[in-house]
Amino acid sequence: MAERRRNANDGRPDERRDARPAPGESVRRGAGEGDAGADVGEDVARLWAEVVATARRTVADGLVVGTSGNVSARLGDLVLVTPSGVPYDRLTPADLTGVDLTGRQVLGTLVPTSELPMHLAVYRATDARAVVHTHAVHATAVSTLVPELPLVHYMAAALGGPVRVAPYAPYGTDELAGNMLRALAGRSGCLLRNHGTVTYGATLDQAYDRTAQLEWMCRLWLTASSVPGLAPTLLTEAQVAEVGERLKGYGQRR
Ligand code: 13P
Ligand code: ZN
Repeated sequence: MAERRRNANDGRPDERRDARPAPGESVRRGAGEGDAGADVGEDVARLWAEVVATARRTVADGLVVGTSGNVSARLGDLVLVTPSGVPYDRLTPADLTGVDLTGRQVLGTLVPTSELPMHLAVYRATDARAVVHTHAVHATAVSTLVPELPLVHYMAAALGGPVRVAPYAPYGTDELAGNMLRALAGRSGCLLRNHGTVTYGATLDQAYDRTAQLEWMCRLWLTASSVPGLAPTLLTEAQVAEVGERLKGYGQRR
C-alpha cells in the first residue's frame, strides 16, 4: 500500500486508519465522514482497479513520467480519483480514493489528486464517466505553439472537432479548471498550455483512447510541419464534421 496518508482520522480512534480490507471483507468507507463501515460493493472495487490500470497505462505508454497526470471515473455521485503524488505501480485495492461531486472525500485516506477542480468541473458540466489528464510530450509541445491544433487529420472528429488550447494557469487551480472547461466546449478533449492534455469519455478506455489519439495527432502535426519549406495541407471544419457523422457507424456493428 502507498504510505502517504492524510490525517482525516486523527482523534477518532474508533475509525479505521487503514482502508485495506481484511481477507473476505468488502471495501469500506473511511476518512471520518461519519459513514465508516458502509459497504461500497464490488462495482466500486472493480472501477478502482480500472482507474489504477489506466493510470499505469499512461506511464507504460510514455504519456507521463513519474506521478504526473491523473485519472478518474464516476459512478453515480461518487468519483474515484488517483491520489496525489503516489507512483501508480504502488497503488493497491486498499488505496481506493473517492470524492463526491463537491470534492468532499468519502472514500480512503490518501490525499486526492491536486487536479480535483479539473476532474469535477468535467463531471459537473458533461455526461463524462471518466477523465484522463496527461503531460504527453507532443501534445504539450503543441500547446506552446498554437491556440488550436491545426486540422491535420480527420481523427480530430473523434474529439468533436478542432482541439483547442486552454490558456495557462497553475496546476490544481479553479482558474485552470475554468480555462479547461471553456476549451472543452463541444469537444471531448483539449490541450492545457505549457502543461498537457485532458480528455473524457463514457468509459476509462474511451477517455484513454482519446488521449492517445490526441497525442498521435499532435505528433503528426509536429512531424509534418517541421519539413523545411513545406507546410502540411489541412482539412476544413466541414470535412472533419463529415467524418464525425461517419464515425458513428465505425467498427463492428453486427
Ligand atoms: P497529482 O499527482 O496531484 O495528480 O498531480 C499531477 C499533475 O499532473 C498535476 O497537474
Ligand atoms: Zn498535470
